[in-house]
Formats: sequence, C-alpha cells, structure tokens
Amino acid sequence: MHAALDAAERGWHVFPLRPGGKPPALHGEKSCTRTGECADGHRKWEQRATTDPDRIRAAWSHAPYNVGIATGPSGLLVVDLDTPEHKGSSDAPDGATTFGALCERAGHTVPDTYRTRTPSGGSHLYFTAPPGVRLTNTAGTVADSVDTRAWGGHVVAAGSITPAGRYEALCDRLAAPLPEWLHTILQPAPKPSQSPSEALTGQSRRYADVALANETQNVATAQHGEREAKLFRAARALGRFVAWGDLPRHVVEQALQAGGEAAGLSASECRSTLRSALNWSITHNQIRRETA
Ligand SMILES: [Zn+2]
Repeated sequence: MHAALDAAERGWHVFPLRPGGKPPALHGEKSCTRTGECADGHRKWEQRATTDPDRIRAAWSHAPYNVGIATGPSGLLVVDLDTPEHKGSSDAPDGATTFGALCERAGHTVPDTYRTRTPSGGSHLYFTAPPGVRLTNTAGTVADSVDTRAWGGHVVAAGSITPAGRYEALCDRLAAPLPEWLHTILQPAPKPSQSPSEALTGQSRRYADVALANETQNVATAQHGEREAKLFRAARALGRFVAWGDLPRHVVEQALQAGGEAAGLSASECRSTLRSALNWSITHNQIRRETA
C-alpha cells in the first residue's frame, strides 16, 4: 500500500498486481460480471488505474498486492533495459549495454532520471512523455534487449516483491522529460499499408525514392542537437528499402552522408552512424520478412 501511495503521489496511475507476481489482479474481460466499475461495460486495468489515495487504500487493504503503474495514463515513457538471461539467450548483450551504445552513437550521455532495478538485474528508466503525443509500447525497436512502455503498457513499481526479489528505486529524483533525440527514434515508422508490396515493384521503387529524398532533406536541415538522432533515424528508416532491394545501399549511404555533412556533422561521424544504423535496419528487416 505504501508503494502504491508513493507512486500515486508522483502522479502515476496505479492498479493492483497479484501478490508476489506480475499479472494484473483485476478481472479480465472474459470473467467480467458487468457490475460495479464495469456496470457500463468492462474496464481494463489501464482505465481503472488511479492516483486516488482513498481508492488505493481500499484496494490494498484486501491483500498485499504488488503495484502496477499504467504508463499511458501516467504520462510516462519507461525504457526497460532487460538482461539476456531473462530473454533466454545468455550470449546477447544486455539492454544497459545496447542502450549505452545507442546513446553514444546519438551523441548523448545516458539520461539521468528516476530509475528502478528489477529482480532480474535489469532496470527501468522513467521519462515523462511529451504532451499531446500518444506513444505506445515498443519491443527491440530502440535497441536489442530494450523495450519501451507507454500507452497499452505497464511496469512493476518499486516496492513490489516477486520470488526473484524486489523492485527497488535506485534514486529519488523526478522522472525527466523524454529526450528529444530518443523521442525522434520512437516515433512510429510509416504504416505497413504505405509500404511497398512485392506485386507493385514500380510503385515501391517510387515510394523508396520519395522516402530517400524526404529523409535526406530531414537530415540536411536538422538543427544542432538533433542532427545525430535524425541521421540515425533516417538510416534506420531507409535500411528497410535496402533490405527489400528497392534502394542500393551505396545510394542511401551517399545521400545521407551528404545530408549529414550539410547539417554540420563530420564525415567520420556520419560514416560510423550510417554503418551501424544501416546494418541494424537491414538485418532487422530481413528477419522480419523471413518470419512474416
Ligand atoms: Zn469488468
């Protein structure tokens, strides 16, 4: 109850998780009796999560529930740095490593913000989401072993206990605003409906050419402070066209290299950012296609 009240005091919307566990302790839609809070239709945990101390005291007086924070209504974007043991492959780098490398490539330090440690050895970095933007969950989009939680997602709050251990706050500071460069990377990619289909090769090439021109323009006109992130994002966005055979890699590299240098980045900075972002994107999109 204390953990739930602490989180609510920070303005975060909480709901009960099963004592000692992570699943929501609220009933699911299938077992809904359409009574009480659900009288007008089932309300899921994201809608029922609250900052109201009276409702929190009433709920937690029934059992020592763990504490879920519904990230969407709380206005949070939480970066989840996982450990590879947790994902079942011990040879992969952990989320802290891949996120640190991403920050370095983007030209920034790892942001200083409220963070918690998970029992598996991972950590959660809490950021306030930009106003007026509806970010959703991502898995592996930012970097390997890095997920993000926003609308549609929840995190286990500090003070919760599972058989593996306790979720602990690592510092007492406020959640910092989501850095602009990270927000840029998190913005959703073009919808699949806009993506080229194999039956429309000519059209998909034209789409790829337009995307190349737009992304290059974006990079070339980027302001100081967002240049690296925009170059990184452009390379990731265009890498899929390379993977799909719609654009030759050297054409993308030349265009973005020129765009990055026009924005004031050094030639070597552009090259290393382009290489890693394109490699990631091409590999990622080839895997996507094979498993589709
Ligand atoms: Zn219900």
